[in-house]
Amino acid sequence: MKAAVWYGRRDIRVEEFPDPPPPARGEVKIQVAWCGVCGTDLEEYLYGPLYIPVDEPNPLTGRMAPMILGHEFAGTVVEVGPGVEGFKIGDVITPDTLIHCGECYWCRRHQVHQCEKLAILGLMTDGGFAEYVNAPTYMCFHLPPGVSPEVGVLAEPASVAVRANRLAGTSFGDRVAVIGAGTIGLLCLQTAFLAGASEVYVLEVDASRREVASQMGATRVLSPQDVDPVQAIKELTGGRGADVVLEAGGTSDTIALAPQLACKRGRVVLLTLHNEPVPINFFPLVCDEIHIIGSFSHIYDEDFAAAVKLLGSARIAAEPLITGRIGLEDIVEKGLEELLANKASNLKILVSPQDG
Ligand SMILES: [Zn+2]
Ligand SMILES: [Zn+2]
Repeated sequence: MKAAVWYGRRDIRVEEFPDPPPPARGEVKIQVAWCGVCGTDLEEYLYGPLYIPVDEPNPLTGRMAPMILGHEFAGTVVEVGPGVEGFKIGDVITPDTLIHCGECYWCRRHQVHQCEKLAILGLMTDGGFAEYVNAPTYMCFHLPPGVSPEVGVLAEPASVAVRANRLAGTSFGDRVAVIGAGTIGLLCLQTAFLAGASEVYVLEVDASRREVASQMGATRVLSPQDVDPVQAIKELTGGRGADVVLEAGGTSDTIALAPQLACKRGRVVLLTLHNEPVPINFFPLVCDEIHIIGSFSHIYDEDFAAAVKLLGSARIAAEPLITGRIGLEDIVEKGLEELLANKASNLKILVSPQDG
């Protein structure tokens, strides 16, 4: 089959790759319809290996580089492994992509995304930038009626936003500040309202992204280049600051800014994978009892299941987030390099391995 394979930094090759084996017990084989390019894929391309095992195989999957990337995808079941119930050939599904051992301390507490052997499809085993991929059915969800595979791809990033709001405890009447209006930030905006926020303020440097945030109902959209964000959020919140801050900007500056936007006892959720030290003065954080919360990925039957339902009932607007559709052979030029060159004009680029 055709696949986009990570060999090393700046070395992703679209090439012939062996088909996945017949699905093992509890697995299905999926013919991938669409797979989204994620910021994590971009980081593996630019700075990798970050998650991809290169020295020794992942303990759960036994796989290491070269690796097929892609962890946001949807497609059709074409083969069913032994012992599978509830899934049949022809079903249109999207997998959550986090494989866990089911036995370790964290798995027994159902914190499966903290599994000691955690494996992510498309990073620690072959993923969705390929014609076919195998996935365990415990993590697979049927797309609800009316949800196309293109929109189904957004279940994965939407579940990241669901989890961030879950960990923030976003609730009725909260005033929420979202930093960054990329795909994740815009999904944070939408899910914050769904969780009960009365106002959601979005900070974003790029004008076209600010426009999308406005269309998605942001109470106020601010450019940190035009206004002092700390002052602006204070003014919008009666001098207090935001109850919840969701950091989806992913730079040292935005991470350092996040706690400054929060009110006393406010909750600040960091959900980007920024890999550099960030200087922060903790003195005001201690005095104001600011809660700094890391939010990693999602749990399949909590966050991912919720995201699928929200897409199914059209309470998340996914279509405006899709800004590109390309074939697999173009993934480097029109996918990764395009995102690097024209960050502002792109949100989610979808890749179809079935074209051409
Ligand atoms: Zn991702
Ligand atoms: Zn485990």
